[in-house]
Amino acid sequence: MKELTVKEKRLLGLEKAWKARADKSYEVNPIIKSRESLSSRATAIKAMCAHCMGCTEDHLEPNWKAEVKNCTAFKCPLHPFRDYQDKEKPYEV
Ligand code: SF4
Repeated sequence: MKELTVKEKRLLGLEKAWKARADKSYEVNPIIKSRESLSSRATAIKAMCAHCMGCTEDHLEPNWKAEVKNCTAFKCPLHPFRDYQDKEKPYEV
């Protein structure tokens, strides 16, 4: 089987993202998204936080986004950069 080029991998990732957006019931797994596409730092941080909350490639923990939002591991280097924070609230340590 032919190895996919970087461009083909990127197009494949975009196609999956478009399908996911079209099907609102499907929740994108950030760990898979981070691995399959050319990910950004934000995607990598989201994937790490999901992993930290017990999510895997095959399984998303219920309520994992709220757990990340309410994460109290202030010494974690990713804490100030984690997703799902209240943007209105000033960051507290
Ligand atoms: S910020 Fe919280 S959820 Fe994210 S990796 Fe650190 S400890 Fe885990």
